[in-house]
Amino acid sequence: MSTDWKAVESKYYMFAVRRQPVVIVRGQGTKVWDEDGKEYLDFTSGWAVNNAGHANPAVAEAIAEQARTLLQTSNQFYTVPQLRLAEILVENSCLDRVFVCNSGAEANEGAVKLARKYGKMRLNGAYEVITAFNSFHGRTLAMTAATGQPHYQELYQPVPVGFKHVPYDDVDAVKAATTDRTAAVMLEPLQGEGGVNTPSPGYLEGVREWCDERGLLLIFDEVQTGLGRLGTLFGYESFGVEPDVMTLAKGLGGGVPIGAFLAKDAASVFEPKGEHGSTFGGNALTCAAAFASTKYVIDNDLPGNASRMGERLGSALHALEERQESVKDVRGMGLLWAVEFDSEMAADLYPACMEEGLLLGLLGPNAIRIMPPLTVDESEIDEAVQRLEAGLARVAG
Ligand SMILES: *Cc1c(COP(=O)(O)O)cnc(C)c1O
Repeated sequence: MSTDWKAVESKYYMFAVRRQPVVIVRGQGTKVWDEDGKEYLDFTSGWAVNNAGHANPAVAEAIAEQARTLLQTSNQFYTVPQLRLAEILVENSCLDRVFVCNSGAEANEGAVKLARKYGKMRLNGAYEVITAFNSFHGRTLAMTAATGQPHYQELYQPVPVGFKHVPYDDVDAVKAATTDRTAAVMLEPLQGEGGVNTPSPGYLEGVREWCDERGLLLIFDEVQTGLGRLGTLFGYESFGVEPDVMTLAKGLGGGVPIGAFLAKDAASVFEPKGEHGSTFGGNALTCAAAFASTKYVIDNDLPGNASRMGERLGSALHALEERQESVKDVRGMGLLWAVEFDSEMAADLYPACMEEGLLLGLLGPNAIRIMPPLTVDESEIDEAVQRLEAGLARVAG
């Protein structure tokens, strides 16, 4: 008799996550299978993580090889996978140096610590970081404070001070919020979790100019937009605006938990005096996986595929919007899209699409988020949109 894994979870696991009633056991490319053998098109890709596809052979081989060779030594020593990863990230971005950690929240924490030290050294002790409403920067206490969505903070007050929130897509709001205490502005170049909100032309340029004028650091949280998601290797390339500091995680490791923050030389103010560190950060196993995944993304031009498939997905979703009364808005870029409905139907649509064999992300009560692996092809895009429409029909019927 097979184990009832749902019963095991309800007995032993903390009630912090709401699950869909399905046990996923295997993945390949754009597809995953549950324990009953049902196949799904995975258009959530582990929350924008599996950019190189599930069970990517290059990533799997790198992990297996590294596991047989060396897993962990600590950062007292040089290790090759960490340095190869640092090299490929720097050589393919506008940033000069990398620090490797274990998650998106941790990468953002590191970036904010860097900005605070920068403020101490160069900006008369300025420490405040301006972030945007509807941003999402992670779930540590400080990143809960950085995140511009009050509902993530309410239960955990008092949260750390030093963050100021302003409306997204509004340069004047950033200017008005700037004081002698401001050290940095931290933005997702395109907001993911907070609604898939794209910046208007001129917004990021305007913030960049303001930061230059005032000597502030511009931090881009590219945890979700990095590694090809928007159709360029890093999101900032899509908008032609370079940050001083950039954070990565999600798509970086091809599925293993890893994060990183990168900075231009002028902003790389940490010194090797115990100012920042991590036991697992830069671990040989996760770095070998991240190097293999990043190399795969670059060598196979997955950003280019994301751009082409994103056009196809975007047109199909806009056509769906024309046909379906309930669709209120379709927005996105590359392979990160949101479909918003005129009522709170996302919670019903989600299981209906699962019945049809399509996994999506929820985006509040009114909307869904679509973010397939960047290896997705035309037929999978077309099939997914058909399944989405079939799911809509189920909910309506
Ligand atoms: C997911 C996300 C984070 C948090 O990453 P974790 O790895 O869950 O800590 C931070 N910033 C953005 C933009 C994200 O999408």
